[in-house]
Amino acid sequence: MRTQNLGYPRIGSQRELKKACEQYWSGKIPVQQLLQTGKTIRNQNWQLQKEAGIDLIPCNDFSYYDQVLDVSIMVGAIPERYHSLMEAKQLPDIDLLFAMARGYQQDGQDVTAMEMTKWFDTNYHYLVPEFTANQTFTLYNTKILNEFLEAKESGINAKPVLLGPVSYLLLGKEKEEGFHRLELIKKLLPVYLEIISKLDDANAHYIQFDEPCLSLNLSEAEQKVFEKAYREIKNRFPHLHIILASYFECYGDNLQTVLNLPVQTIHLDLVRYPTQLDDILATDFVKTKTNLSLGVVDGRNIWKNDFQQSLSLINKAVEKIGSDRVLIAPSCSLLHVPCDLDLETNDKTLTPEIKPWLAFAKQKIDEVVTLKQLANNENAEAVSIKMKENIEANESRKTSILIHNNKVKERVAAIGEKDDQRISDFSTRKVKQRKALGLPMFPTTTIGSFPQTAEVRSWRVKLKNGALTQQEYDDLIAKETTEAIRWQEETGIDVLVHGEFERNDMVEYFGEQLGGFVFSKNGWVQSYGSRCVKPPIIYGDVSRPAPMTLRWTAFAQSLTKQWVKGMLTGPVTILQWSFVRNDQPRSETCTQIALAIRDEVVDLENAGIKIIQIDEPAIREGLPLRKENWQEYLQWAVKAFRISASGVKDDTQIHTHMCYSEFNDIIQNIADMDADVITIECSRSQMELLDAFADFKYPNEIGPGVYDIHAPRVPSKEEMMLLMEKAMAVVPVEQLWVNPDCGLKTRHWEETRTALKEMVDAAKGLRLLV
Ligand code: GLN
Ligand code: ZN
Repeated sequence: MRTQNLGYPRIGSQRELKKACEQYWSGKIPVQQLLQTGKTIRNQNWQLQKEAGIDLIPCNDFSYYDQVLDVSIMVGAIPERYHSLMEAKQLPDIDLLFAMARGYQQDGQDVTAMEMTKWFDTNYHYLVPEFTANQTFTLYNTKILNEFLEAKESGINAKPVLLGPVSYLLLGKEKEEGFHRLELIKKLLPVYLEIISKLDDANAHYIQFDEPCLSLNLSEAEQKVFEKAYREIKNRFPHLHIILASYFECYGDNLQTVLNLPVQTIHLDLVRYPTQLDDILATDFVKTKTNLSLGVVDGRNIWKNDFQQSLSLINKAVEKIGSDRVLIAPSCSLLHVPCDLDLETNDKTLTPEIKPWLAFAKQKIDEVVTLKQLANNENAEAVSIKMKENIEANESRKTSILIHNNKVKERVAAIGEKDDQRISDFSTRKVKQRKALGLPMFPTTTIGSFPQTAEVRSWRVKLKNGALTQQEYDDLIAKETTEAIRWQEETGIDVLVHGEFERNDMVEYFGEQLGGFVFSKNGWVQSYGSRCVKPPIIYGDVSRPAPMTLRWTAFAQSLTKQWVKGMLTGPVTILQWSFVRNDQPRSETCTQIALAIRDEVVDLENAGIKIIQIDEPAIREGLPLRKENWQEYLQWAVKAFRISASGVKDDTQIHTHMCYSEFNDIIQNIADMDADVITIECSRSQMELLDAFADFKYPNEIGPGVYDIHAPRVPSKEEMMLLMEKAMAVVPVEQLWVNPDCGLKTRHWEETRTALKEMVDAAKGLRLLV
């Protein structure tokens, strides 16, 4: 029996990569220093896994931005608009990578970034490959080989990890009509074969192909492409040990195809879908020689493994196929969990009672190895102590009184039919809201946050370490908020926001004030590029002991005669961006959060706030990967949103906001949420995302984003007007709002000011047109 890891977090246990990238982007460190940081992280990760006793240690799981973008560069799928950059400046690979990821606005060049979207049902985002009809591929760089050789130099015969060719194509988008991206497999495969042959020459024994699209519904034709591709790879490299990894779901209807693929090892996510193992062991698969990699340690959540449960799965497999054919592994790459629980030394946040219930990446690596030792009866004495500890920790969690709050359980049980319904339907509300709010055509607004400058963030640090008193901190936040309100008034924005300066993060801020949540100090997880999030840990029933946003929203409203929009994070997003309990259904936890948000909405209304936004950027990413499971999820998710939004009067306007989403297949459910206004991310897709709303004849109001806030680039008034004209072509003008794609917290003030001024001018320009 062997152990393998599918991927290790690459941001560094102290977010070294994030810091180095951002310093490099702002010109504070030279490129060598950034590259050195990457090298150090890779080496630390390898050594850590080696010392823990992992047999198959991954390489090329590292990336300076995104592993999908890395493949696009590797195979030379570099969109046309970057070509002049490449020629004009001879950009080094790393700068080309960042230009594709973030856009490029320098030296008279102005190139937009590539589109970004969610990685399956995670909160990680990848850069969407772009394909054209006459797309060609060439081996543009050999990052994967370089990292393999680098590992070798430090004494590790690593297992290169590469996004497989079929998923790579499926995850991309056709930028022209007239072809399907899977047709490109013929052109793509030779480049894959070329890089594999280089790895082969360098004596790589294993290669892990991630084909996570095997967790989706695939047509027969699509399954055929997998067969063809892997047969071709196998024919060329018969001796290479191919590990095929998919995760986040079972193989479902693709199982037979997968079992027949000419690969040596098939990885199973047994955390998501443990019964998959029985299905496989019941087939003729047992008579083959193919190995199974058992993903029993949860790569998506932070709970300590249940050794007894994992061992029963492992033993079942060993009994049927023998231990030689079994590998123990995390369920997926550990990219999605924080680095190291040992760094959590603050007893006030992660209390000594809760900490033993948890495991982060480093601890999960140990769990994988311990499980192997337990299953093999190696090191019997030492591991039996670990087994005992494991049983005790899990038992203490199950029986802890910290988890249960009967009032909350009773309130959930008492939810009635009316509790998720507004008083009147939208057509009635619309009239009342128009009258109450008196907004112009094309009302302008922003999505909530304004730049969280280093200064603003430093206040929070100082408050925490005692360098600022609460009063001093509050005064600073008040000053910043006041300036933001003044500035918005001067700029001519119609619906103002308070700026969210008091918030560290849109989920953390709420989690800190809700019962049933705890926080790590250092539990960072990569969201995209250098952006990391620190998901709260929901360990118990959720309650709201006191109002959470009332104070700063009411303060901001007191400063101005214009409307200030209250800003809340919705129940599904709080759920989705937290580490969630695994001892009750997600729907149950979500409903508890919905009730807490509902109370907040009602409190805001009572304080005179007439417009309240409940952000739900994560609704779509919560979708199960298989369509047959969608409706069940959407039903409880939409209901949770409605519960949170339905405590108010007709003339209170409820907004919601979503980003990085395609809406086509869930537009009915989005409409069922019945928000009075929805703002969506749209600009990178050139308003394409709006088509779903147009085709559906979406009845409520919509603000399609006209300003891409993920990149420092400033769009012009004309550019935004053009985008809005595209919107006007498909959505009636009286339904349209003008706003950026998302919150502005990651931007700098300078570009924000310029861009929003342009945006207001764009709205003024539009008003003249109609
Ligand atoms: N109100 C939040 C903000 O402006 C919304 C962020 C989001 O959708 N991701 O930051
Ligand atoms: Zn957003």
